[in-house]
Amino acid sequence: MTAKPPQLVQLDASVPTPESPVSAPKQLFGLDSAALAALLVSLGEPAWRGRQLAEAIYVQRVAELSEITTLSKSLRGKLADEGWRIGRPAIAQVFLSVDGTERYLVQCGSPESASVQTVETVWMPEGDDGESGDSTDSEVAERVGAPCLDSETGESTDPARPSRQRATICVSSQVGCAVNCQFCLTAKLGYQRNLTAGEIAGQVIAVLDRHKVEVGRDRVNLVFMGMGEPFLNYSSFIDAVRLLVREAHLSPQRMTVSTSGIVPGIDSFAQEPAETRPKLAISLNAPNDQIRQELMPINRKWNIESVVDAIRQVKLRPRERITFEYVLLGGVTDQPEHAREVARLVRRTGLPAKVNLIAWNPGPGIPYSMPQPAAVEAFREILTTAGIPAYLRRPRGRDIYAACGQLKRTVEA
Ligand code: SAH
Ligand code: SF4
Repeated sequence: MTAKPPQLVQLDASVPTPESPVSAPKQLFGLDSAALAALLVSLGEPAWRGRQLAEAIYVQRVAELSEITTLSKSLRGKLADEGWRIGRPAIAQVFLSVDGTERYLVQCGSPESASVQTVETVWMPEGDDGESGDSTDSEVAERVGAPCLDSETGESTDPARPSRQRATICVSSQVGCAVNCQFCLTAKLGYQRNLTAGEIAGQVIAVLDRHKVEVGRDRVNLVFMGMGEPFLNYSSFIDAVRLLVREAHLSPQRMTVSTSGIVPGIDSFAQEPAETRPKLAISLNAPNDQIRQELMPINRKWNIESVVDAIRQVKLRPRERITFEYVLLGGVTDQPEHAREVARLVRRTGLPAKVNLIAWNPGPGIPYSMPQPAAVEAFREILTTAGIPAYLRRPRGRDIYAACGQLKRTVEA
């Protein structure tokens, strides 16, 4: 099938024009209910109004202060007079793939300031099978005797209220990335800046809003696998998770964060309580240190053994597994001997684990080739025969540069 050129379908009406006021506004989006309560108390309001405001922003997903009907007009006016606005990141452009995937450029930073930048967020209507074989897959919801609310995710399993949507949102954590993996298009941008917690959570809320997702009914997974290395922006990343869990009521068990193996980040992650800890994926991408350090220079700083040692500190939930992601590069990492080495490596860790295989997605100026489909299948077969669960991630949205490792703010075809 020939890929159609990407379509620019929408310029969000809420994106301010250059004539907007110049003074930097104060943004409510990104503050949790305690911070919102403190703000309202400082304006002479009762603290409980903070929760009301948080509900409006994160649950009802209201994007304009003037539309928060649960607050009195005078209070909304007071907040506006004080310079406050909601300031949720807005979807500025949408690219539609032939496979239903949508790639967004999401506007971050204060639209009135010179630092307006876009980051990329991806909506995959049926996921990409990356969640296969983990504890939050349909097997949980369909467990015999499961009550109407899934005990792990809090989602409805009532057949009278079936899930309407099963989608995955891929979220960015930085503009660009400093890690410089040789096969990744985002690396070509270099590191530009960290996103704030509000900018990370805002991508999710904006996309949930666009698709009218009903949290608790629709089955939406989040993967922190967009642009950037989440564990090099740890505090904003984890604050965003806390907002999404505590304020927007999303389940951390439907969230997966992927890291290239930043050991201090994994150490911090291991200390997080289960209520606000997503699942962990490690970009292994090579069968041994020698090949890995060629592909991922970060391996010289933290080699495979040091990464595995750090992962061991994470207290996994029942049935939870660590995911090892493995990008198959034609002729470089996709050979049968590589598969056997990966099987030995994963088995040696002794961790409950699965391997997600990703056929390399091409990008301009990156000197690798895609693996042959037969090599991919043979690789998977060797792993599963060795007793290692292995799944193939379906490439989503390749025609619009939305697939893994292709995010580079590519606007043109
Ligand atoms: N920085 C984090 C998360 C973002 S990258 C990390 O590296 O884990 C998300 C996944 O995309 C990683 O597993 C990475 O190895 C993979 N990836 C990067 N470039 C790719 C490409 N061109 N084709 C397929 N997968 C790629
Ligand atoms: Fe950064 Fe991940 Fe790309 Fe490596 S694979 S350059 S860590 S985004």
